[in-house]
Amino acid sequence: MENYLENTDFHKIQEVLARSGKIIITTHTNPDGDAIGASLAMYRYLKKRDFEARVIIPDQYPEFLAWLPGSQEILIFEEDPVNCKAFIGESDLIICVDFNNLNRLNELGRYIRSSGTAKILIDHHLYPSDDFSLKISFSRISSTSELIYDFISESGYKHFLDKEIAECLYTGIATDTGSFSYACNYVKTYLITAELFKLGIDGEHIHRLIYDTYSESRLRLLGYAVSGGLTVLHEFHTAYIILTKEDLKRFNYKVGDTEGVVNYALSIKDINLAALFMERDDEVKVSFRSKGNFSVDRLAREHFGGGGHSNASGANCSMSVKDTVDSFLALLPEFREQLTHVYKD
Ligand code: 5GP
Ligand code: MN
Repeated sequence: MENYLENTDFHKIQEVLARSGKIIITTHTNPDGDAIGASLAMYRYLKKRDFEARVIIPDQYPEFLAWLPGSQEILIFEEDPVNCKAFIGESDLIICVDFNNLNRLNELGRYIRSSGTAKILIDHHLYPSDDFSLKISFSRISSTSELIYDFISESGYKHFLDKEIAECLYTGIATDTGSFSYACNYVKTYLITAELFKLGIDGEHIHRLIYDTYSESRLRLLGYAVSGGLTVLHEFHTAYIILTKEDLKRFNYKVGDTEGVVNYALSIKDINLAALFMERDDEVKVSFRSKGNFSVDRLAREHFGGGGHSNASGANCSMSVKDTVDSFLALLPEFREQLTHVYKD
């Protein structure tokens, strides 16, 4: 791991950049802190290098990220497809961050796939697809933001890093590691974080902006999720939360309000698998989390058409909530043994 940056293609990205003028940066649906942090860090870096850059994302980002430098300039495909398509049509390069397959971008992904524009990937999810002409993908790294730091600093532009870029990158690293509690067992993550502090960020203030800005209804939704919404199956070391459309309406759900909720189910002693089932208009959004070597990437990929990381994954299912949960429950006996003896590799 310590030498994972050897033989990376950072210089190849620089070569592609040298041939480009108008650049789009994009990321996945339901963007989280890493998706937006990595995108905006790349955006600011490219602007400082005088590229004409734009961040275009499939759907709205959570309000708790709206303070990030550059966030107000993000274009949202769902809200303004005409302009977004025009910008994509004019671009010479699309930089894809924090996802591994254009399917993760819904309609925007289909449009990007059909456009002839070159696409490169900078990401940390397992199994990157063949949608991209150039891929930088390390699944063991904490976050895409950490990788963006490496890209900028290792390809000769460390002096371009500034406080604003550092705020974006810190947000990505902090949120993807659950405030440095998982996916962060490598020294390098902390060395990079120290560099971000040297650039003048205020970590305590950033944490307040991200985590201490709940609306009352968001906190009450969390309260419901971990009481009435929660089922614990001790014999399978599994806990899951169901939030129906009615639940979400009752608590005045806003984008981002369920971010982190699934982790509470995993925080129970001896619970090694946690799931959140969230009913949407025409699909169910599923989040999986696990401890140790039980791979929820595999679970999501093989049984729910999703994917992600070994300990954090997700999927979108077109079945009803009941059928989605039933199919999850039907799998548990098969995993009982594995779920009883998780260990860390
Ligand atoms: P979350 O549960 O926070 O939405 O997502 C957890 C992880 O799984 C993230 O890394 C996210 O990118 C990934 N993920 C979430 N939903 C999907 C999905 O539908 N397909 C795939 N391939 N990955 C997903
Ligand atoms: Mn990420």
